[in-house]
Amino acid sequence: RSKRRGRGQITVYSREIAQEMKRATQLEQALRNAIISDAIDVHFQPIVSLGNNQVVGFEALARWNDPDLGFVSPGVFVPLAEERGFIDALSEALLRKAAEAALSWPRELFLSFNLSSAQLMDPGTSGSILSILGRVGFDPHRLELEITETAVMGSADTAHRIIADLRAAGVRISLDDFGTGQSSLGRLRDFIFDKIKIDRAFVSRINSDRASEHIIKAILSMCEGLELEVVAEGIEDYAEAVKLRTLGCGMGQGYHFGRPADGIATLRFLHENYYDMAPAERVSA
Ligand code: C2E
Ligand code: MG
Ligand code: MG
Ligand code: MG
Repeated sequence: RSKRRGRGQITVYSREIAQEMKRATQLEQALRNAIISDAIDVHFQPIVSLGNNQVVGFEALARWNDPDLGFVSPGVFVPLAEERGFIDALSEALLRKAAEAALSWPRELFLSFNLSSAQLMDPGTSGSILSILGRVGFDPHRLELEITETAVMGSADTAHRIIADLRAAGVRISLDDFGTGQSSLGRLRDFIFDKIKIDRAFVSRINSDRASEHIIKAILSMCEGLELEVVAEGIEDYAEAVKLRTLGCGMGQGYHFGRPADGIATLRFLHENYYDMAPAERVSA
């Protein structure tokens, strides 16, 4: 096609590709600098018990606001960090920050932290996570790690060993974005998960699409049989929250309950809405 349109068109394409490559290089360089200068922050989004609307924990979500590039989504920079081999450094810094912040929360609240699939292929991951928790003084029983199905499929033996080591130390494992991955049900037979997070794709259609409602009902019934906890992700309004509670879903997360907010705002939120602030005690390593 470019042949027929002549040489000018080819020039345009190659200029676009060159610009794209330049942008990618700038982004990579900026990310490298942000990691080195510890400029990537962590925000927290509440997870509530649908029965009584009480907060039970928070999910840590990485936030990067670059002076030149502006807000860059973790959906962009997390995969880039994985690709370029920065994910360990990034994830370690984020977990340290998240666990330090969570030390000031009431001790019954858990911290949920996303692990990338690349980390589940690296046998050093469990040791590194537990040593960060030890240094910060954060009780592993208060940590949940969110992983996706694809992560366990890649390098299955290594992933299983990492998960077993972490669970032996008291860390809980949740399966993120459930229903969107490659395989689904077979993984649940391995009994490596404590919790399932139903993807927003189903939740957002629960009141408009009978199929989504049936799928959610089936997931809930299956999780009850397998004794897995369930969180519905991306609840944006009251009607969705009510429906999910009626169906028997234990926990929910989404803009309806709270958007991700920085550490200070999270403390203020807890202080105003939920608790007498009696922070957890540090545990010794
Ligand atoms: P995720 O783990 O599935 O996180 C949920 C995403 O949904 C977050 O997007 C959150 O801000 C968004 N969300 C929450 N409630 C609602 C809602 O009611 N409506 C809508 N439309 N969205 C909602 P975010 O923060 O942009 O993160 C995107 C993804 O990036 C995460 O998906 C996770 O896979 C990844 N990610 C974020 N932080 C980290 C991190 O520290 N480490 C790793 N490895 N991945 C991370
Ligand atoms: Mg998550
Ligand atoms: Mg998710
Ligand atoms: Mg997601």
